[in-house]
Amino acid sequence: MMAVDQKLDDEAGRLAALYRYEVLDTPRETPFDRVTGLVSQVLNVPMCAVSLVDTDRQWFKSCVGLSTAETGRDISFCTHTILQRKPLSICDATLDARFAQNPLVTGSPFIRSYLGVPLTTPDGYNLGSLCVIDVVPRNFRPEQVEILKSFAAVVVDELELRRIAQTDHLTGAMTRRGFIRELDKAFARFRRSAHPTALVLLDIDHFKRVNDTFGHPTGDEVLKAVALDITSQLRVSDSLGRWGGEEFGVLLQDIESEQVLATAERLRRHIELLVVDNEPGLQVTASLGVATLDSHMASVEAWLAVADAALYEAKRAGRNRSAVGRVS
Ligand code: GH3
Ligand code: MG
Ligand code: MG
Repeated sequence: MMAVDQKLDDEAGRLAALYRYEVLDTPRETPFDRVTGLVSQVLNVPMCAVSLVDTDRQWFKSCVGLSTAETGRDISFCTHTILQRKPLSICDATLDARFAQNPLVTGSPFIRSYLGVPLTTPDGYNLGSLCVIDVVPRNFRPEQVEILKSFAAVVVDELELRRIAQTDHLTGAMTRRGFIRELDKAFARFRRSAHPTALVLLDIDHFKRVNDTFGHPTGDEVLKAVALDITSQLRVSDSLGRWGGEEFGVLLQDIESEQVLATAERLRRHIELLVVDNEPGLQVTASLGVATLDSHMASVEAWLAVADAALYEAKRAGRNRSAVGRVS
């Protein structure tokens, strides 16, 4: 484990942590707007933001009194805040060599004072800051700093809970809820640009027997191994979700329709060869239902139904095989 303060210098790790939350460029949402609204009232400031520091920009998940959704990182105050553990307090930016010539100080929104608290993840990365800004010089009082720190913790808790709700604890795949969100996004993208996209539903064959023969904990190991095996073969733009029990969903993006079945078959053959826990005789197979997204599919539900019918077909035809679904 890296010591916590080394993480302040670990920009690659920090960005990876930020991207895990999948929050950049998402729409405004009430829980964050409540925080910035409350903070600006309680601290009596005209501007407040939940600012997340990306590679070369700061992006506001929520803001009050600011007219842009992002600014360049080079001129952002928050990029200084994330270099430290403590809050960054600037009483008068025009008197601070780091900021006096900053275009956000010399021009709109004419920042004079700033207080930012780092948004620190449980594992010690600073994603950005919760900050307040005023157009007059201000010395923020210790109790105001404490208030801002508490609200910064609320923001991180909110992000963290969302991340947990989308990650399956056992396998590390997305939860059903998170996966449906990905399907919704893929469907919307397909509607805009006809991006070739496919869904594979995968169900482990006779999994009940695995539990009965080797025990439930070994069954769990199989689920983990299958999830890891599938993930190792996907591209970063693809997603794996645990659809339920011993059933998984795979979302394949940018895939030509001729490639979809071959990809499913590759996943299937890999699973067949898996060795789990060095248990003699423990081998699993899976059945897969494939559905390439097309313009005749009216909804995500319709798309899922095609994949589900194909999966049923693969089971019925004898298991350990892939079947391609068609819109009926
Ligand atoms: P089929 O080939 O028709 O899919 O047969 P199956 O036995 O795989 O299907 P069935 O739906 O009858 O049984 C699924 C089993 O998966 C039953 C359930 O106890 C087991 N299961 C579901 N979730 C978990 C889990 O998290 N861990 C373990 N070990 N088993 C699980
Ligand atoms: Mg099964
Ligand atoms: Mg099942």
